Amino acid sequence: METIKTIVAGKRGRRILKSFALLTASLLMLFAPWPLVAQSPVAVRLVKAGRLLDVHTGNVLSPAAVLIENGKIKEVGPPSQVQPHVPAGAKTVDLGSATLLPGLIDSHTHLLLDVVIPPEAESSRRWNGNFVPDLLLAIAESPSKRVLFGAQMAREDLESGFTTVRILGHSGIDGDTELRDAINAGRVPGPRILACGRKLITRGSYVQSLNPALADAILEQEFLLIDGADRAREAVRRNEFQNVDVIKVAADENLTLAELAAVVEEAHREHLKVAVHAIDKTSIQTAIDAGVDSIEHGNEVTDEQLRQMRDKGIFLDLTPTSYGGFFTKIREGTIVMSPENQAERIKADEQGRQRYDKLVQRVLKSGVKFAAGSDMCWFYPGKTRGQASASRFPKLHEAGMPTIDVLRAITTNAAEMLGWQDRIGAIEPGKFADLVAVSGDPLADITELERVRFVMKDGQVIRNDLAAH
Ligand SMILES: [Zn+2]
Repeated sequence: METIKTIVAGKRGRRILKSFALLTASLLMLFAPWPLVAQSPVAVRLVKAGRLLDVHTGNVLSPAAVLIENGKIKEVGPPSQVQPHVPAGAKTVDLGSATLLPGLIDSHTHLLLDVVIPPEAESSRRWNGNFVPDLLLAIAESPSKRVLFGAQMAREDLESGFTTVRILGHSGIDGDTELRDAINAGRVPGPRILACGRKLITRGSYVQSLNPALADAILEQEFLLIDGADRAREAVRRNEFQNVDVIKVAADENLTLAELAAVVEEAHREHLKVAVHAIDKTSIQTAIDAGVDSIEHGNEVTDEQLRQMRDKGIFLDLTPTSYGGFFTKIREGTIVMSPENQAERIKADEQGRQRYDKLVQRVLKSGVKFAAGSDMCWFYPGKTRGQASASRFPKLHEAGMPTIDVLRAITTNAAEMLGWQDRIGAIEPGKFADLVAVSGDPLADITELERVRFVMKDGQVIRNDLAAH
């Protein structure tokens, strides 16, 4: 754990570290004889498929070919047009009649967290609704164990077609940034990761019912406390020291505008976006007024607030967790529920779904920019983490969202929200060769997203169940 002195010198320290890293990298390039694992063994590939969906326009190219060079997309078009530019020796992947889509982006997830819902009796005795025992266990567990768990979740996400994810908290001090770097170095398979480091919170939002003698130490492992504007700035700097990609704040009614504005100012100075968890109207308003980049969840947002968000260009990141009896299902697999509890759960799920349906429809009407994230952090019996995450997005269609907008929410829109629209989110020349394919037509049946059959990241085939063609 860094001392205050190193934190104050954080920026300078980072610059020194960066120059050191650059020097090391140049030396390695001069002398290293070994190939980096992350590099594709095949530099040029041609991917052919029956259909390719341009998510920007909604148009389908059929048939389609994508020429890939050194992990990036070089050309997209009909095979007859692309073929003449394919160099001899290039490897061809023929996906038959499948539909190609850009690699999927889950813009709100928690790969280092695995919440197992506690038994009914324990849940009902909880004083603080926020803090489930397993969240405490996750924090108290060995950071090494957590990051290894995260590596498994990362692989499972990638196999389900998520080639980029944004981890928004619950990773310990540096679990998410280390996992990101290990994936980028080719040590473990996984999606591109945007990591936020520790979540910024106000006192009382997560650990208030813990033993006060231990609470601060536990808090320090998982969160950074915002307590006044100066401390808010310092919290951002401490995350910057860990080389985070984004700042995550959990807003509640205790968070002041001055505190959040300080966070935004400090983060934007370092070109980091600020993602704010906000559920109630007051927190949402504080986030809008502070000029944050995205509001996560946003359940109680008013039409007037949606209008303000639209005018300011603030994204709403929808997290459709309350669909398909999700919270009942994750309980059923791990605990025995009384009939009363089960009935209550089913009712709560249904009410949650109805409320979220209305939200999705108001969001579509308002013209606000939106993306979507799974918010997945739960143990889901019988599903991998990737499968559980992928099961969330088709639900937006059930809520009234056209299928093309569901696809945009996890490709083009998400890329823009993350500030990576020049790298990911579409099958276009110059972007990373992150592609997925499904057998059917996702515009006609959005649940195809749950049956991704082919995954490519960086021009490397991760999975191909269509190989028979
Ligand atoms: Zn979350």
